[in-house]
Amino acid sequence: MTPRRALLAALLLVLAASARAAPPALPACDQAEPVPWRALAPGVWVWDAANHEVSAVNGGHVAPTSLVVDGGEALVIDPGPGLQHGLRVRASIACRFQAAVVGVVNTHAHAENVLANAAFADRPIAANAGTREAMVARCPDCLASLTERAGEQAMTGTTIVWPQRVLSEGELLAVGRLQLQVLGTERGHTASDLVLWLPQQQVLWVGGLAYEGRLPELAQGSVLQWLQALDRLQQRRPRWVVGSRVGDARMLEATRRYLQALHDRVLAAMDAGRHAGELQSVQMDEWAGWSGFRSRQGFNTQRAWRELEPVWMDRGPAPSGSLEQVGR
Ligand SMILES: [Zn+2]
Repeated sequence: MTPRRALLAALLLVLAASARAAPPALPACDQAEPVPWRALAPGVWVWDAANHEVSAVNGGHVAPTSLVVDGGEALVIDPGPGLQHGLRVRASIACRFQAAVVGVVNTHAHAENVLANAAFADRPIAANAGTREAMVARCPDCLASLTERAGEQAMTGTTIVWPQRVLSEGELLAVGRLQLQVLGTERGHTASDLVLWLPQQQVLWVGGLAYEGRLPELAQGSVLQWLQALDRLQQRRPRWVVGSRVGDARMLEATRRYLQALHDRVLAAMDAGRHAGELQSVQMDEWAGWSGFRSRQGFNTQRAWRELEPVWMDRGPAPSGSLEQVGR
């Protein structure tokens, strides 16, 4: 971060902190637009998102927003892309569930997950330390970028509100009688991916670590660490997985198949003497039907190539016969 940008970020932090008092004005319950919540498990509600790239059609709602509700208390996990979305969630918590918001959790620092913090500026907003740092560094740009892609209307009034509470591994988040466990930080989809576990209902929140039908976004992540993270997540045998969409453990497997193929085919291309200027030699066509493939596959291959090149150099010559595996 440049000194000027660091100063700007510090100033924004002060402004955000001083703005954190007033609750937002909410519509009367008979005027509020309802949220199509889906009951996932007792006490767990999800607002499913479009399984597509951000556009003006979906207004940036491309990651699910979820609620844990019990005993008149509600915890919001990944509140969504902007103020309007967040206000709709907040009004629904008050009107439909008659619950008080005890907190908001940001799983990772992607704009479509965190910018609806703007509707909860008077409530405790929590994230792990890496997510907070990434938001301070990137959110001024990510607000502009999301507004450009989702449209000004969807993003009306959205300001950046940073998490002010840092979560640590092993911490418990109580919501009525339910207790979520903070499982710690993975580094696959971004440099800081929070994982939450609700043992009573076997629900696992993994932020952007699980995809299906939409191309995993690797741009700020690591293919090797993502595969290791999936090992740990699968060992937990969740009944439900809330990731870039809502599903079950098969989403973890679908994500692994894609990342493992990317990993293996990039190494095979290196074995075959290809270089970084020949990214198209890594064929991933089985995933061509997944949303975002055309815009993102090249970046994913590039990222994996950069990460795996030193691994390949350290590994020494390929075992004989591996040349045939290129593009398999
Ligand atoms: Zn993400």
